[in-house]
Amino acid sequence: MKKKALFMAAAILAGVGALQAAQPKVIAHRGYWNTKGASQNSIRSLVKADSIGCYASEFDVWMTPDGEMIVNHDPTISGVEIQNNLAADVRKKKLDNGEVVPTLDEYLAQAAKLKTRLVLELKTHDSRARERAAVKKTLDLVKKYGLEDRTDYIVFSKDAFKEYIKQAPKGTKVYFLNGDYTPAQIKFSKGAGIDYSLKVMKKHPEWIKECHNKGLEVNVWTVNEPEDMKWCIEQGVDYITTNEPERLQKMLKTGK
Ligand code: MG
Repeated sequence: MKKKALFMAAAILAGVGALQAAQPKVIAHRGYWNTKGASQNSIRSLVKADSIGCYASEFDVWMTPDGEMIVNHDPTISGVEIQNNLAADVRKKKLDNGEVVPTLDEYLAQAAKLKTRLVLELKTHDSRARERAAVKKTLDLVKKYGLEDRTDYIVFSKDAFKEYIKQAPKGTKVYFLNGDYTPAQIKFSKGAGIDYSLKVMKKHPEWIKECHNKGLEVNVWTVNEPEDMKWCIEQGVDYITTNEPERLQKMLKTGK
């Protein structure tokens, strides 16, 4: 009887563990910018994401023609196109919160002082050669700050996807964003998983199980509405990328 009770307790604990393990992890989209003093992809938004305990903070990276890596979402900042202007000119521009548009070097220097994981999105550049150079630059900078074990890579470009898998240290996670590779194609390419839009995932919810069966992970973006968060949680995705990290954290904690 005693043995049976112990077995039951162990089974319940294992069950609870499995349930906890099944909870999606929260990734702040472009940092936690939707809060006082921050703006998208600012260093402040990275610090904020870390301060509320996000599993990871996502951000976007471009390369200037003189090889400087810049953290920004849009291809242009205040009318200056990042991949076609010298770093000195790009760096005259400011974000909405008053920060000078950060270099990846500055961004990673701050990240190294924090705990949150990094989800680095390399934007799609004009040429394959430029993209290949940008992949190498990002990997070198991440290495400079010893952040290899804390950084995942996401890309829309199929060339950059292959390039990261080829150039990154073994075990680095690279996810594909564009929505048009099946789980079998991701597995074949040695990617870590899919990082697809909510729209794509609602069209292909079967890909979630398919990915898991293949040992791949599933991240969904950009999930801001409570009913969509609920859907992702119920579907058992691994990561949710959101502009509302505190709302999602609360839902994961309280169920609403
Ligand atoms: Mg992004």
